[in-house]
Amino acid sequence: MKFRNFPMVPRVVFGRGSFNQTAEIIAPKRIDDKPMIFFVDIFFKNSPLVDKIPLEKNDKLIFIETKEEPKTIYVDSIRDELKQEFGTVSGIIGVGGGTVMDMTKAVALMMNNEGSSAEYQGWDLVKKAGVYHACAPTLSGTGAEVSRTAVLTGPEKKLGLNSDFTPFDQVILDPELTKNAPKNQRFYTGMDCYIHCIESLTGTYLNAFSKSYGEKALELCQDVFLNKKEWTDESDDDLMMASWHGGMSIAYSQVGVAHALSYGLSYLLGTKHGVGNCIVFDYLEEFYPEGVREFKQMVEQNEIEIPRGVCANLTDEQFDKMINVSINMVPLWENALGKDWKQVITPKKLREMYEKM
Ligand code: ZN
Repeated sequence: MKFRNFPMVPRVVFGRGSFNQTAEIIAPKRIDDKPMIFFVDIFFKNSPLVDKIPLEKNDKLIFIETKEEPKTIYVDSIRDELKQEFGTVSGIIGVGGGTVMDMTKAVALMMNNEGSSAEYQGWDLVKKAGVYHACAPTLSGTGAEVSRTAVLTGPEKKLGLNSDFTPFDQVILDPELTKNAPKNQRFYTGMDCYIHCIESLTGTYLNAFSKSYGEKALELCQDVFLNKKEWTDESDDDLMMASWHGGMSIAYSQVGVAHALSYGLSYLLGTKHGVGNCIVFDYLEEFYPEGVREFKQMVEQNEIEIPRGVCANLTDEQFDKMINVSINMVPLWENALGKDWKQVITPKKLREMYEKM
């Protein structure tokens, strides 16, 4: 057995209003006259958050499109523009949800690595460290703030830039930034965390390390989405920490059936990760009876609508594409169902499952 020796985020600041300290936090990371680049979710264009971005001298703010999951071509084009305009940059700070965080990690890496980001989709293919990269999440749940990957949709696959260089150098956890998130969005992203916990805690890869983080994250998710009658500032604090712990839990185990299926959906249809997980999880009683029961309860209690019929009009070819992406997520299936997962999961079985969604 080879034990993985994985890197963690070296610096983190937590607290309401901590984002106001950003200028001070990044100051020592400025290199000569090279700018700091801020990636901000386009959702915040024309919002007061933009005024809080501490731009100095030739720093640049780039609004990031977040309607779809981040694509390798999008990463490459922003990298090319930055290289053309500045040569190199002091660093990149992402302010947004999972998409912006993954874009930040990916572009930071690609500033120092040749070619297209599609060439680095996989495990430990990134050759050189990227430029300094930090983030301030505005949505909680993905765990992208702690993860060792930057998930991208490429021409051939949806797979992350998984490397020791990927984790952020700095994370700014300011729950005030998540305060005005749209209710549905907050729920879908929060459920990403909930599902990370269920998949980790019921998986065959489970160990004491993952269990300790997963149990805490699960308890926090249950608190904010089930036990509390209304959303409070404390809920934002708790969900932010749930996301962190959920991310830590899967760092040393793996996700499972819901993620394997939802990767197929978002590869084909561009479905965002959080809502994709919810669409899928609704139909997974067979694999996660307890988790799915509780999930349905949360959906009802929080008055959330989960999209249905997303696979209603797909062609055979489209189904095959989705099934192919999904079935290739070997570690996920193995974690969920053990070494003999192929006896349960066949293309036919996946087709039947997708057809329901
Ligand atoms: Zn996830």
